[in-house]
Amino acid sequence: MAYLKFLGTSDAWGVPRLLCSCRVCTSHEAKNKRMRPSAFLQTDDEQILLDISPDFYQQFQAYNTGVVPRTVLVTQPQHSHTGGLNDYADLCNRQHAPALIISPPDIIDGLRQQYAHLEADGGIQFLATRETFIYPWHVTFQHVHPESDAYTLLFHGPEASWAYMPTPLPDLPESRQLLRELDLLIVGISAPPSGQYQSHSNNVCTKKRIQHMLALQQQLAIRTLIFTCLTHNLYPPDINNYLSPTIRFAQDGMEIQVPV
Ligand SMILES: [Zn+2]
Repeated sequence: MAYLKFLGTSDAWGVPRLLCSCRVCTSHEAKNKRMRPSAFLQTDDEQILLDISPDFYQQFQAYNTGVVPRTVLVTQPQHSHTGGLNDYADLCNRQHAPALIISPPDIIDGLRQQYAHLEADGGIQFLATRETFIYPWHVTFQHVHPESDAYTLLFHGPEASWAYMPTPLPDLPESRQLLRELDLLIVGISAPPSGQYQSHSNNVCTKKRIQHMLALQQQLAIRTLIFTCLTHNLYPPDINNYLSPTIRFAQDGMEIQVPV
């Protein structure tokens, strides 16, 4: 048995965005309050963080179980996915719980330069690798976005496989092949770049994105799809009618079982 709790489900800027007057950012619904992206993974033996967002301080206060996660898998070097490292290292130091930050060499090289003082303090260590084992999964960092420095985490277990992709799915055959027949895909979803759907409302834009992902889910035979890393101009409450039972939106604090 293993479960995942979403600690943050926004894009890089959080929802609401500061001083934004859009329909989502002015909404009072809990679904529209989102911290920067990160997730907490609990197995029988370990607690793992998937990314460590700049909102880590608030996330740990809100959701901690009294245990400091000792492993962090980092999917991309941006501040939105690593900005909590200072707070985390301080926590590890004070709790005498040194932790391991695992990511591919290109990301670890950058983190080592930026956070050399944290490693020297002894609170955290960095490990550069593209694969690791977290029982019961073989975990690999997959570079599915050729023009991006983001990685996708693929978890292969004895009976099932799943992936954490906190970025939108690239429209490439090789990327799709990698995700085929997954039991669970947690994937980022954002509004299209400016210029597309310009004449439509946010709601129409959201529907088009969802319809696209529904079609993809069927094509790739992905059992369950969960959207995270939502931009502020996507509006989940209005599009629930377009979802199937195997597709849902993540929210901060939401907990799911993950396949093993
Ligand atoms: Zn907004």
